[in-house]
Amino acid sequence: MKASQFFISTLKEAPSDAEIVSHKLMMRAGLIKRLGAGIYNYMPMGLRVIRKVEHIIREEMNRAGAIELLMPIVQPAELWQETGRWDKMGPELLRVKDRHDRDFVIQPTSEEVITDIARQELRSYRQLPKNFYHIQTKFRDERRPRFGVMRGREFTMKDAYSFDRDLESARASYQTMYDAYVRIFQRMGLQFRAVAADTGAIGGQASHEFQVIADTGEDAIVYCEQSDYAANIELAEALPLIAERAAPAQPLAKTPTPGKSTCEDVAELLQLPLSQTVKSLVLATDEKNEAGEVVRTTVWLLLVRGDHELNEVKAGKIEGLKDGFRFATVAEIEEHFGCKPGYLGPIGLKKPVKVVADRTVANMSDFVCGANEADFHYTGVNWGRDLPEPDLVADIRNVVAGDPSPDGKGVLSIQRGIEVGHVFLLGTRYSKDMNATYLDESGKPQLLVMGCYGIGVTRILGAAIEQNHDERGIIWPDAIAPFRVVICPIGYDRSAEVKAAADRLHDQLADAGIDVMLDDRGERPGAMFADWELIGVPHRVVISDRGLKDGKVEYQGRRDSAATPLAADQVFDFLR
Ligand code: ATP
Ligand code: MG
Ligand code: MG
Ligand code: MG
Repeated sequence: MKASQFFISTLKEAPSDAEIVSHKLMMRAGLIKRLGAGIYNYMPMGLRVIRKVEHIIREEMNRAGAIELLMPIVQPAELWQETGRWDKMGPELLRVKDRHDRDFVIQPTSEEVITDIARQELRSYRQLPKNFYHIQTKFRDERRPRFGVMRGREFTMKDAYSFDRDLESARASYQTMYDAYVRIFQRMGLQFRAVAADTGAIGGQASHEFQVIADTGEDAIVYCEQSDYAANIELAEALPLIAERAAPAQPLAKTPTPGKSTCEDVAELLQLPLSQTVKSLVLATDEKNEAGEVVRTTVWLLLVRGDHELNEVKAGKIEGLKDGFRFATVAEIEEHFGCKPGYLGPIGLKKPVKVVADRTVANMSDFVCGANEADFHYTGVNWGRDLPEPDLVADIRNVVAGDPSPDGKGVLSIQRGIEVGHVFLLGTRYSKDMNATYLDESGKPQLLVMGCYGIGVTRILGAAIEQNHDERGIIWPDAIAPFRVVICPIGYDRSAEVKAAADRLHDQLADAGIDVMLDDRGERPGAMFADWELIGVPHRVVISDRGLKDGKVEYQGRRDSAATPLAADQVFDFLR
């Protein structure tokens, strides 16, 4: 590839809305161009990286036995109504109507559509297991799109879905995907950690996130050096620590009083710093004896993660008075409220608990606080305007480095991470709702057991840059660099020798299948080098008359502090 035939557009300054280094560098290097909030054009240089990322994912998915197909971006609402997600998803789900006033969804994920395919196509146990995947555009109307491709509204995801005859076989499919993900992120040259994750509103039996380690990550992860324990800090496994810390069994300092309770009271009551309750919805239920005295107050604490969308809600229960504090299990909450904790709130409530009816958990900028009785609660509670943004509070769960790990084998360390992949063992969550069955050996219909597996293709660009950059720009890992080698000739248009040597090396490398760029734009050396350092090409060869006189060219790796002379006739072998 010659630079004059390509499109290169670099900027000295990043636009002011770019907050983190990867976003700034992607804008400056001309990889993306903003079209609207969370919506980007992928420019030619950026698209090359996306294609490399996709290529690695495809190779490893195919190697792992997954089969590629392509499902539509626009999906009929009926399927989403079958699983109930049409109602549950809230405003993150983009809905559109066609000319006949029919409802559609711009897909944020594809469980419904793939399950619809599976219930028609996978009829017999003989066809199982199967794993289908696609690499497709997604749209999620994120509450707070930011950091460029890191949290876009439109983005590209690889999503795969496995179908098995039983849980045991589904576990094997899950493990196969887990292993494939490890290979994928290793091949991309990323430093990452697989952590146990919450199954959230998607539900299911097991879940792991693949987190690229970076200080700017929106997630916090805890891990133990002495064992293989690693978890997203949101995961309930970390919760007992908070319960323990809040544990001194003592009478409640205060009972949330109708008409009086404030978030400070609740924080005091729970003995948690206010910063931890800032994104929580707290309801209290009083149990009274026959004399009408309160004998027990149960505080239902719904911890909500940073972007507090409906599907990110966690639940816990803290009992006061005689029992001290503890968190309820998800099952207990389910039993009490008649629905999954993630679905708590007016939309999902099946039993009439008296919560305010005009607020959804998804819209929690107005918080609810107080007793769980009609008119005995507040809405619009000020949960501490002066508090730092919750996603900047490192230990939002009160887990601190040095705490004992839940497996008792060591102590916890904390890191920040960027979620680039997520694997879920779904079980029959979707096949049940959509009646997706196969016939077993005895001809009896059985529910398909599913798993789903996502990778944020475009988010990977941001994550890779967060990990690989310096003050001059991006440093791409070889495997996903837009070009692996750039040839910078000094005087390409003036010196026949330089031109011949540069063209020859270019052709040799190109013939060998190496992505090579020859900068024939005639830029001054300083400007030319600055461009390629910003763009982050990992290997550079400078060819000049001065060097060629001694039969040399100059090689510099993107991380090297100085150039190394190489014999011109050996450079091809060196780079190959
Ligand atoms: P997050 O917690 O960051 O909102 P998620 O848990 O909602 O992500 P999943 O539903 O697990 O995302 O989707 C699979 C993958 O898609 C994620 O691991 C992530 O890499 C990517 N992804 C999700 N949302 C976005 C987004 N808004 N922009 C870019 N990539 C995204
Ligand atoms: Mg999300
Ligand atoms: Mg997540
Ligand atoms: Mg996820």
